[in-house]
Amino acid sequence: MNEADVSAKDYVQSVYETVVKRNPHEQEFHQAVKEILESLVPVISKHPKYIEHGILERIVEPERLITFRVPWVDDQGKVQVNRGFRVQFNSVIGPYKGGLRFHPSVNASIIKFLGFEQTFKNSLTGQPIGGGKGGSDFDPKGKSDGEIMRFTQSFMTELSKYIGPDTDVPAGDIGVGAREIGFMFGQYRRLRGGHEAGVLTGKGIGYGGSLARTEATGYGAVYFVNEMLQAEGLSFEGSTVVVSGSGNVAIYAIQKATQLGAKVVACSDSNGYVYDEKGINLDTVRRLKEEQRARISEYVKEHPHAVYVEGCEKIWTIPCDIALPCATQNEIDVNSAKLLVENGVKAVGEGANMPTTLDGIDVFLSNKVLFGPAKAANAGGVAVSALEMSQNSMRYSWHFHEVDDKLHTIMKNIYRNSVQAAEEYGYPGNLVVGANIAGFIKVADAMIAQGVI
Ligand code: NDP
Repeated sequence: MNEADVSAKDYVQSVYETVVKRNPHEQEFHQAVKEILESLVPVISKHPKYIEHGILERIVEPERLITFRVPWVDDQGKVQVNRGFRVQFNSVIGPYKGGLRFHPSVNASIIKFLGFEQTFKNSLTGQPIGGGKGGSDFDPKGKSDGEIMRFTQSFMTELSKYIGPDTDVPAGDIGVGAREIGFMFGQYRRLRGGHEAGVLTGKGIGYGGSLARTEATGYGAVYFVNEMLQAEGLSFEGSTVVVSGSGNVAIYAIQKATQLGAKVVACSDSNGYVYDEKGINLDTVRRLKEEQRARISEYVKEHPHAVYVEGCEKIWTIPCDIALPCATQNEIDVNSAKLLVENGVKAVGEGANMPTTLDGIDVFLSNKVLFGPAKAANAGGVAVSALEMSQNSMRYSWHFHEVDDKLHTIMKNIYRNSVQAAEEYGYPGNLVVGANIAGFIKVADAMIAQGVI
């Protein structure tokens, strides 16, 4: 290790220690910062300007973190209070952009980890969008449509003060789909008294949404993995795939993988997983999840040859060629990663955000498993959100195939740029490092150009 490497390592370590000290108990945020900062050592070492301009100290500190009270009345007439969050992490290359998550686990740490990651992911897409994220500890499970509407209206009443088509553009994430975006858009429009379509993405097609946005994250993840496979002379054709989750990302990852000739044998929800050796019947999953909002355990009632197993994490015991974690953070730990390797997995593509723990990633990389990290592999959703913003600005709509073609091109570019960055900085084939570096350089250079702000 030369002198420049040592001082870059010391710099990264000191910034990380400050983050831990300044944000105590925020384990997910620490994890995300550590993963990115450590991979930036070769860039910092080669370009001391990033130390001189204090880039890392600035990039780990959100521009703004907003928390607010969300009061609402349930169907029994009882007052409920949840906490709302919006982190506006970095706006150097465009308006803050990132989804809203409604899940009881939501707290400042989770929102900050997601917003931090989003900054680099959005940069990687090549679109002019900054990083943001938000949500609430509200649990949509088991709530009536009326309760969902009253909650989202209250949430938007406060959030509306901080967002806008040129400042901050939220979208969906866990627990926030077309229904919630519709209610929030209606409330925003009512409060503003105008039709600012570009304030939210993931809208319904009839009122400013983009075709292919619903499919974009799942399709994009499969396009990305396909690039990784093709580079090694492999393909989805004839392969066995396991997809965790059964929400938006999982459903369209299953659909595209199946279209490319794979057999997807399992999917899950937070209670457990189903294994169907004949291949998961997506029509059933979509009806259960998108229409009936039922549990995945119901699948076996219609497909008695399939097996339901309680405990979602056990899904990774199923042997497969390709694993697509599309549920939530830290769902593949070191033991699950080892098991996947023992069972012969060839490629892992992260559809969810940070689904693999840091030691789990090490297991995949050291065993030469092709590994597509979240910020690259699942960037298709936000990329098409940016295309939705463009269509809203133009007051024009592209056809499905036009958006899908653009998505495909974007995913190929993300793959190529990540591969090139990894090679240039001495980590050939390591897309974790490559994606972090490629995403970082654009943001960091824009921060230098715009001065110390
Ligand atoms: P959905 O709410 O549509 O689906 C989430 C799925 O994951 C559900 O099947 C859910 O099961 C399961 N799940 C949620 N929490 C847990 C948990 N703690 N343990 C196990 N399973 C869990 O969300 P999305 O599909 O939109 O998001 C999935 C992941 O993809 C998230 O990490 C999200 O941040 C990421 N992502 C999403 C994008 C998008 O465009 N939607 C864009 C980029 C990333 P249950 O129904 O039981 O809760």
